[in-house]
Amino acid sequence: MDTTKDTAPPATRELRGIKLYREHGDEIIHEGRGVYTVPGCSGGSYRVDLAVFGGEESCSCPDFTAPRRNREPGEPCKHLYAATIFRARSRVAARRVQVERMAARASRGNLAGLAASL
Ligand SMILES: [Zn+2]
Repeated sequence: MDTTKDTAPPATRELRGIKLYREHGDEIIHEGRGVYTVPGCSGGSYRVDLAVFGGEESCSCPDFTAPRRNREPGEPCKHLYAATIFRARSRVAARRVQVERMAARASRGNLAGLAASL
């Protein structure tokens, strides 16, 4: 049985970002205005700006700030991927709360059928 699959680092930055989110997603902090503090894998943390109000995405990690090395121009680092997942999950959670409130309101107005269909 090949056990290296479980221990080898994921092959792409996107997959490394997913792994980072899975393992440390609960440590990501939204600082406001699309800026996040994202933990590094070997301690410390990085400042990630998702540029939600325009401008360029950025991360303070060496992978993003160092000369391109093997990163494609414009390719996000794993912290940018992890922050993107965090933001999407937060927005889905907020929307779910909104829908549940609407459903509760609808059922109070004897529209239980509508609530049940949500
Ligand atoms: Zn980074």
